[in-house]
Amino acid sequence: MKVAIIGAGFGGLACAYELAKNGVEVVVFEAEDKPGGLALGFKEKNWNWTLEYHYHHWFRSDNAALNLAQDIGHRVFFIRPKTSTYYNGKIYQIDSPFTLMRFNQLPLLDRVKTAFMLSYLKLSPFWRNLEGRTAYDFIVQTAGINSWNVLWGPLFIGKFGNYAKLISATWFWARIHKRSASLGYPEGGFLNFAYNLQKHMTQKYEVSINYKSKVIQIKKRERGLILETSDGSSYVFDKVVCTLPNAYFVKIVEGLPSSYVKKFTKSRSLGAINLVLRLNKSFLEDNTYWLNINDLSMPFLAIVQHTNFMDKKNYGNEHIVYIGNYLPDDHVYFNKSAEELIAEFLPHLKKINQGFSKSWIKKAYVFKAKFAQPIVSVNYSKFIPSFETPIAGVYLCNMQQVYPYDRGTNYAIELGIKVARLILKNGKKKN
Ligand SMILES: Cc1cc2nc3c(=O)[nH]c(=O)nc-3n(C[C@H](O)[C@H](O)[C@H](O)COP(=O)(O)OP(=O)(O)OC[C@H]3O[C@@H](n4cnc5c(N)ncnc54)[C@H](O)[C@@H]3O)c2cc1C
Repeated sequence: MKVAIIGAGFGGLACAYELAKNGVEVVVFEAEDKPGGLALGFKEKNWNWTLEYHYHHWFRSDNAALNLAQDIGHRVFFIRPKTSTYYNGKIYQIDSPFTLMRFNQLPLLDRVKTAFMLSYLKLSPFWRNLEGRTAYDFIVQTAGINSWNVLWGPLFIGKFGNYAKLISATWFWARIHKRSASLGYPEGGFLNFAYNLQKHMTQKYEVSINYKSKVIQIKKRERGLILETSDGSSYVFDKVVCTLPNAYFVKIVEGLPSSYVKKFTKSRSLGAINLVLRLNKSFLEDNTYWLNINDLSMPFLAIVQHTNFMDKKNYGNEHIVYIGNYLPDDHVYFNKSAEELIAEFLPHLKKINQGFSKSWIKKAYVFKAKFAQPIVSVNYSKFIPSFETPIAGVYLCNMQQVYPYDRGTNYAIELGIKVARLILKNGKKKN
């Protein structure tokens, strides 16, 4: 059996690895020149480690990713960094029941109700009963409107914009239920991890990865599944796994029924933009790694100082800061350069750290992803396409199928492995 995988993100790589370990010949097609997909990274000459375009970490519960790292002998560091919230002109550490109870910007009764709500979500395994409810409704009813207005609303609005009040309570359950306070990071960065996985696959098994190879069409013919790339090449495979979002998938596959196309392209999503600053001074001087911006007058959702998580010695002693946003893919920021975004953000950054000035910035980059976050609205499960598609032999394995947990590299890996096992099972049935 010869299988093509479209996309060398973590879903595609995990699927390729699982198939290859079971004796299948695999060819991966990737439009970019490196593996990693949304967790893609880069490395400066004076750095020892790679850095992601968009901030990334793992949680203790990310078993699929951690097992994969163990399988290929890749070291993962776990530490408990500091998470804080910027509210009313001040930074408050809020990352434990104790620090939540100390957060005096929320009335005591609301803090207690919020703590109870969080404990319930942490302990309860029951998410199905939350499917039909919005997170807004759930939070207001259990923790109160103040808790929404001060703590949660700004984060939902920052992350989901106009969709904030439509997000399912299941999504919120998953965020709280599965996430750990201590966070993991692969040695050398996610790009290094992806390269290590690639090395494992290509040296030990029958896997090849074609970079700068954009797939533009998949057609079913008598001799097999024909895959065409933008450079005019065409290939024949027995099976094809596509890891692209639904909207791109339906564009490249010939012959999908219109009812399928209609149903699965309805689901909405947002893009992501990260301004990455290489600084010669620390921006979050209190050692906060993750700063939630609970101030809707600020034009960003979070400030993530990566080097308050992983040691700055891995990055030439520079301080690395992400300024992150989730936005619709037609937002004006998608047309702005790093310089333009710095000009826009500077007055706001100065409010958070009064001493901050442009002279701290050694270099800045802006990274943009037009498809970054599916909108997980109520009863989302009804709009998840199955792995098997109406075209026999063509499988779908993408971020929009991750549910009830929030999308992430761990779930991409889990899905990739599941699809590989399904292909193997279907292959056995045929024989
Ligand atoms: C801002 C941000 C922060 C995040 N933070 C975290 C985090 O902290 N931890 C975590 O685990 N996850 C995080 N994620 C999510 C995580 O990156 C994704 O869930 C995961 O990488 C998805 O993997 P995938 O393989 O499903 O898809 P992708 O990573 O999207 O892979 C798809 C691949 O297909 C390629 N491709 C596209 N079109 C074509 C084509 N026509 N032909 C060939 N190739 C093509 C793309 O270049 C890409 O490499 C974050 C994402 C964002 C945007």
